[in-house]
Amino acid sequence: MGKVIAIANQKGGVGKTTTAINLAASLAALEFRTLIIDADPQANSTSGLGFNPKEIEYSIYECMVEGIRTRDIIIQTDFPNLDLLPSHIDLVGAEIEMINLKNREDRMKDSMDTIRDDYDFVIIDCSPSLGLITINSLTAADSVIIPVQCEYFALEGLGKLLNTITIIQSRLNTNLAIEGILLTMYDLRLRLSNQVVNEVTTHFQSLVFDTIIPRNVRLSESPSYGVPVLAQDADSKGAISYLNLAREILTKNGLLSQDHSVGVS
Ligand code: ADP
Ligand code: MG
Repeated sequence: MGKVIAIANQKGGVGKTTTAINLAASLAALEFRTLIIDADPQANSTSGLGFNPKEIEYSIYECMVEGIRTRDIIIQTDFPNLDLLPSHIDLVGAEIEMINLKNREDRMKDSMDTIRDDYDFVIIDCSPSLGLITINSLTAADSVIIPVQCEYFALEGLGKLLNTITIIQSRLNTNLAIEGILLTMYDLRLRLSNQVVNEVTTHFQSLVFDTIIPRNVRLSESPSYGVPVLAQDADSKGAISYLNLAREILTKNGLLSQDHSVGVS
């Protein structure tokens, strides 16, 4: 059964979508069957993988609200081993429409149960909120990755997110673990970036991934080509750092031994 990892932080612009797309693509490149679920009405993972959200007929919305079969909605991307459960702007309305539904926090988990065996990893790109859709994502997940941007106010809002995770662990999903805190958009030349790295690692210690994602222009360009950075420039710092993150996660989960690396095709 696949491992489900949610990428969450209610702050916008911290690198959730960039991490979802490029971690998922790195796991896929390492030959793990991977599904990315776009759980943000802004549908940036959907467009970042080359699909026009306006032309998407069915999305995660139909799975969660209308009970349409998840397997019928998943689309294959051009990237080997990588599938997408797309999003659509309609997802904005789902929060309100689900209020009166039974098991409203479990809708995503239920719609995922039928396809979990098809994948080694399911990566959920969360929206910048702590609303019902994000609660559904965290209820469906085995673990959560929290991207933190190496910028001013890096730790702002983290307490609230960690508190939400604790509430979900106690009421909805006792198995939810923190996979790690991921420092993103690190700029070697900026003293501020180094200060944030020090502050976050001092505060959260072993919860912080060893891999730090640098600020890299290829990472911000690749969505406009509709591909993960690995498909655009496999030698870029961005591509290499997300491959390193994938390897760190695989090693942590006992799926890759430290001295035995899986070849990238
Ligand atoms: P979120 O999903 O948390 O809102 P995004 O992943 O969309 O954040 O990132 C916000 C912006 O920053 C996007 O324009 C993205 O291309 C850019 N970005 C994210 N990570 C990096 C990085 N490591 N280097 C350069 N640009 C980045
Ligand atoms: Mg996003």
